Amino acid sequence: MALQYQRTFINFEENDGTRNQRSSSLPPSLNCKANDACSEKYVDGLLHKTGENYEWPIDAQGNTSKGSLGHPEVCGRFCIRFFYGNCRQGENCEFGHLAHREPKVKMDKAQRQLFEMLGEAEVLSLVLPHIERRCGRNGLNRRMLFVIHMLRRRLTSLPHPDDNHVLHARAVIPILRKFTVARLLELIRQSPAFPSGFKEDLKKLADRSLGRQ
Ligand SMILES: [Zn+2]
Ligand SMILES: [Zn+2]
Repeated sequence: MALQYQRTFINFEENDGTRNQRSSSLPPSLNCKANDACSEKYVDGLLHKTGENYEWPIDAQGNTSKGSLGHPEVCGRFCIRFFYGNCRQGENCEFGHLAHREPKVKMDKAQRQLFEMLGEAEVLSLVLPHIERRCGRNGLNRRMLFVIHMLRRRLTSLPHPDDNHVLHARAVIPILRKFTVARLLELIRQSPAFPSGFKEDLKKLADRSLGRQ
């Protein structure tokens, strides 16, 4: 198993940046869906490799907190102590120290209800392109490499989604375009379609990618 994972990882590295080769970089034989132990092993394998030869990029954002990394796309929740001028954690604070100017966009009730009805592959087909676009646009591709890989891999392991459902959801929830990467990941974690083991692994991997584990 470990060997297979390594192969996936290496293939992915080689093909990074060449979008049209993506599907061929993900062997269909790797099908671990709904198998939490397997998915945990997968993440452990990634993290093990990570420790060996992967340097986490460091944002040049100066004297801010750990939680501010990736601001405004993937930073932690805003630090209320910092807001009142008494955060003593400084650089080690896990919360964001940079202000957000744009108000948080939200789905309305009908949009939320529709979203909750979507299956796993439908949610990923809807959300993943936005995550990839925003990571690319905000220089987060390297930092979010493993998270994006995990999501792509999940999507290719699932039966093909109903395209009409995806198109319908895209038309009804255009506001997704305005969601930050952090909020898009949150949407996946809130979706009832995914097994809890997958969502925990996703959170672990995202936290680790952002130096917040
Ligand atoms: Zn922020
Ligand atoms: Zn703080």
